[in-house]
Amino acid sequence: MNAINQSGWKPEMQPAGEGAAPATHTGNRALMLGEPLIFEIGDSATTGVDLAEVPAGENRLAGLARTAPIGLPGLSEPETVRHYTRLSRQNYAIDLGLFPLGSCTMKHNPRLNEKVARLPGFADVHPLQPVDTVQGALAVINELAFWLIDLTGMHGVAMSPKAGAHGELCGILCIKAALEARGEHDRRVILVPESAHGTNPATAAFAGFKVEDIPATPEGRVDLGALKARLGPDVAGVMITNPNTCGLFERDMKAISDAVHAAGGYVYCDGANFNAIVGRVRPGDLGIDAMHINLHKTFSTPHGGGGPGSGPVVLSKALSPYGPLPFTERHADGHITLVEEETVGDRHPDSFGRMTAFHGQMGMFTRALAYILSHGADGLRQVAEDAVLNANYVLRSLADTLDAPFADSGPCMHEALFSDAGLAEGFSTLDIAKGLIDEGYHPMTVYFPLVVHGAMLVEPTETESKAALDQFIGAVKAVAARAKAGDASLKSAPHFAPRRRLDETLAARKPVLAWQEPAA
Ligand SMILES: *Cc1c(COP(=O)(O)O)cnc(C)c1O
Repeated sequence: MNAINQSGWKPEMQPAGEGAAPATHTGNRALMLGEPLIFEIGDSATTGVDLAEVPAGENRLAGLARTAPIGLPGLSEPETVRHYTRLSRQNYAIDLGLFPLGSCTMKHNPRLNEKVARLPGFADVHPLQPVDTVQGALAVINELAFWLIDLTGMHGVAMSPKAGAHGELCGILCIKAALEARGEHDRRVILVPESAHGTNPATAAFAGFKVEDIPATPEGRVDLGALKARLGPDVAGVMITNPNTCGLFERDMKAISDAVHAAGGYVYCDGANFNAIVGRVRPGDLGIDAMHINLHKTFSTPHGGGGPGSGPVVLSKALSPYGPLPFTERHADGHITLVEEETVGDRHPDSFGRMTAFHGQMGMFTRALAYILSHGADGLRQVAEDAVLNANYVLRSLADTLDAPFADSGPCMHEALFSDAGLAEGFSTLDIAKGLIDEGYHPMTVYFPLVVHGAMLVEPTETESKAALDQFIGAVKAVAARAKAGDASLKSAPHFAPRRRLDETLAARKPVLAWQEPAA
């Protein structure tokens, strides 16, 4: 019997009218196969493995032994493989097409990275191995650390944070430790611009600070006057994204840093957008005290598929003493050791502690270093230049199609920002996003940053060709034309996806996380 029919999987797309697609017996549409939940296929009598009977032994579960079946789905090996392969074909991926998700830097992932990361000496190491047996892996961490310090013009780097947001926490904990070492316990406020990524205020609040907004100027940058006016003895520091989430470079960054330092605070820079300035600007020259780098954005291997991230934090001379353990240390004879609690002695007494159990994301370190070494310093600079060029091409190509709120502020950096102004009554950013799915694109980032109504943030990255950009621009123009003309069919897009419009609010507020056996 056909598992798909058994499960009651129903196609949702059956356009009506002349020449409409007929309903199929299986519910599949050509080679795009539908797939029910794993619990809806197979039954608990089926299994992919032969297990020997468990010998009876003494039960030490103190009356807590399970009395009912565990309820795992029962599938054979081929059924299991097909289930996950079918689901994977319903995913969009950077290996399928342009991924315009702003703020995420969804760039092509060079295959060389993967080849290097899979070398057994990197892929098979264990974090508890004696350091003498993992000298190569430690050399990668150490070498990458030096590249990050060099590219940012900073003093030190904490390699262990496991993502951007984790790096933010690391940097803010360094600031907290530095303030405590100065005995300044009353500096409780962190200033964050209105356009900040949501992780910034969340990080500051999580570390126990009070968050206050700094307004933006009409041209989309931090209002320097308002920031200066708010500085004082209760301010621990600022968290500023540069380039910011409106896709603009904060030109006053050095003046901001000088003012914050003069008022006794520290400057945290959200460096997730480093892709736009790597090789062109050194954050250390802008007076920044701490900045995380999303290795999984700037140095390829984009997330979005749930893969690991890595968020090393570069630190100024003032904050380096407070950085976490462990770190690598290269000795005169070339031998590399790990400085950990057991080996640190009295050399790093002000460290705030530890961010992770071990040393960080080895696979990401290997990929990032492979990316850096294959580009070289000049290649990295070109990455930034091409990313900015591509984004400006998108911005100027679509400025007549969509409202571009900051287009008059000059060129953008690596991402182009649009708003929903000018669409027909009743049409919104969401309709453009859903229409793009029918055109074969993952939507751009929508409704972020919050400072722009109905925001659409497009980050093409440097790895897209002009032909790929032109096709994407054409698709956006076509969908926008429908939204401006009030084409009712756009309100129910996507029409060609396995699922139509979902109730995203309900899904977020009341997620159904456990499968319930339907009543018989
Ligand atoms: C991606 C991003 C972050 C968070 O990074 P994660 O690795 O997802 O935790 C923070 N700030 C900005 C501006 C980002 O784009």
